[in-house]
Amino acid sequence: MIRYALVCEKGHSFESWFADSGAYDKQAKRGLVVCPQCGAAKVEKAIMAPRLATSKKRKAQAPAAEAPVAEAPAAPAAPAAEAPAPVAMVSPQEREFRAKLKELRDHLVKNADHVGSKFPEEARKMHYGEIEHRSIYGEASPDEAKALVEEGIEVHPLPMLPEERN
Ligand SMILES: [Zn+2]
Repeated sequence: MIRYALVCEKGHSFESWFADSGAYDKQAKRGLVVCPQCGAAKVEKAIMAPRLATSKKRKAQAPAAEAPVAEAPAAPAAPAAEAPAPVAMVSPQEREFRAKLKELRDHLVKNADHVGSKFPEEARKMHYGEIEHRSIYGEASPDEAKALVEEGIEVHPLPMLPEERN
């Protein structure tokens, strides 16, 4: 016995069993193989598709990599490694600007103390005269920076160069 996936001229797909491939050919030629849905005798063998593709919900487009995936129906496909990366065409002016930005940053970094996450604390101490004024740089969350500004403490974001972001 052999099972064929068949499709009629109207596109209905169905399956049928035959003794062998020759039996199918004979019956089909005599118009004995008919579509169970519309009765059309004009049928042909459909491309056999692997069971997985039809019975389960098709995964977006990852046929090759059959990585074990947890059954999480609502989870959207992870962007993974194919996420688009920022790209840019850089004009000469832009290059010059970037060089200046880097200069400024290098100067700041060279002439200021890095205080890391203690920046808000240190900035406050200086502002309120607890310690001597000096140039410092470090990290502050947007909320912390906002709080400092609201207290009248002048802070500036350190210019960030695109290549340093990762
Ligand atoms: Zn049909």
